[in-house]
Amino acid sequence: MEQSVRTTDDLRDAEPRPVWWDGAHTGPQAPALRGRVNADLVVVGGGYTGLWTAIEALTADPGRRVVVLEQSWVGAAASGRNGGFVSESLTHGIAHGLARWPDELDELQRQGRQNVEQIADVLQRNHIDADLRLVGKTTLARTPHEVEALRLAVPGYARHGEAVEFLDRDQVRADIHSTAFHGGLRIRSGGLVDPMALVLGLRRLAEQLGAVIFERSPVTGITRTGGNLTVRSTHGEVDTSHVVLATNAYPPLLRRLKSWVLPVYDYVLATAPLTTGQLDSIGWSQNQGLTDAGNQFHYFRRTRDDRIVWGGYDAIYHYGDAIGPELELRDRSHRLLAQHFRETFPQLADLPFTHRWGGVIDTTSRFTPIFGTAFNGRLAYAVGFTGLGVASTRFGARVALDLLSGRETERTCLRAVTGSAVPFPPEPLRWPAVEMTRAALAREDETGRRGLLLRTLDRFGVGFNS
Ligand SMILES: Cc1cc2nc3c(=O)[nH]c(=O)nc-3n(C[C@H](O)[C@H](O)[C@H](O)COP(=O)(O)OP(=O)(O)OC[C@H]3O[C@@H](n4cnc5c(N)ncnc54)[C@H](O)[C@@H]3O)c2cc1C
Repeated sequence: MEQSVRTTDDLRDAEPRPVWWDGAHTGPQAPALRGRVNADLVVVGGGYTGLWTAIEALTADPGRRVVVLEQSWVGAAASGRNGGFVSESLTHGIAHGLARWPDELDELQRQGRQNVEQIADVLQRNHIDADLRLVGKTTLARTPHEVEALRLAVPGYARHGEAVEFLDRDQVRADIHSTAFHGGLRIRSGGLVDPMALVLGLRRLAEQLGAVIFERSPVTGITRTGGNLTVRSTHGEVDTSHVVLATNAYPPLLRRLKSWVLPVYDYVLATAPLTTGQLDSIGWSQNQGLTDAGNQFHYFRRTRDDRIVWGGYDAIYHYGDAIGPELELRDRSHRLLAQHFRETFPQLADLPFTHRWGGVIDTTSRFTPIFGTAFNGRLAYAVGFTGLGVASTRFGARVALDLLSGRETERTCLRAVTGSAVPFPPEPLRWPAVEMTRAALAREDETGRRGLLLRTLDRFGVGFNS
């Protein structure tokens, strides 16, 4: 896509917060931890991973004392600000699964499918209205080489049990009215959800089951005390037998996680609700999720009230693993997104952008989370969902609980679970390594050729994605 950034300010009226927060309860609802508390399980982090950990632990063992410690408020981070694409994949897509775990891909696909079915079931049984719609998605090709790549991908999907349809130029434009697209792949599995409504629903369920949540309670350290662990926060501490770290890309409480997880910022826009005429002008009658096929991809979808959420493309790593609220707005990335939107849907030239935001993703070099234990098996971690955690965080939470229990399960024997990621180099090499890889990915998007750097990284099972 065109790289120059339009100077007119298309974003003048865009509110600096996720559209999902409109009308939702945001901010802390629970007190901060004060004094000393006892627990059987402490979950650090109040996003999907942490909430699912609490829910699954209490469903399996209703008597357990489960405490969730969240440094900010539940849903403030990625879980309350993502695109809401629900993917069955536990491997960051079939192609990546085929490259990394060909022998166990069918089993990973089966468990991923079951994971989404069970999420839908939990939401239905507990009356959680998170606008979950299992409408699948279409991946869209913007260049002839992407058309070819999508066509070639069809047999791989079919071999591993996914029904997909290749769409030629006319078919794709009959569905989505934009001359930007030259072909597509209609994938029937997965769907869309309202991410903040999902957080709030899971929070309610966790509390109903007995979890005690503390907000504005950053965990500053974990130490062994006798046979137990002490989890320290600013104004209190918890004495517990077990801990799960569900801290995403935030500075890790275990040193080893620093080399595996990279914080990468992803940026998003939302438009005003479309009128019936505007909706007619773009087609999109199946209301499915849409993504581009390239390395630097946009993802876009409609909301309950027929806005368009349009995000992705840039994936920005800030030097030194920088992370913080000041990085959630990036004019250059937001303007580029606005420009790409106008180029893709020129018929919506007058549609204003009403929201803009960003969020941090926990990227690993293998694009899937890493799992493990510390403190003699009393602490487990599940981090590194690399931009595809809306559904797979539930799987990750279950793996963390399996590891704590010491039980072998259908999850813990997967190489995708037991294996590790190639570590990222430390600074000052980390930032230039990421930038070089991003540039190589952008070149591949333009030319369709995978250059030497990317082919070498492929050989070592290393990549950069969001
Ligand atoms: C803009 C954006 C778009 C995305 N789009 C999609 C999508 O469409 N589909 C998809 O599948 N995935 C998507 N993702 C990824 C998905 O949102 C994440 O994988 C998922 O939300 C991760 O959940 P989590 O609970 O692990 O992390 P988080 O939601 O980040 O929660 C971790 C929590 O831990 C807390 N924490 C960290 N350190 C501490 C500490 N020391 N003490 C106490 N608390 C701590 C943080 O404050 C945070 O609330 C997107 C992500 C972003 C940012």
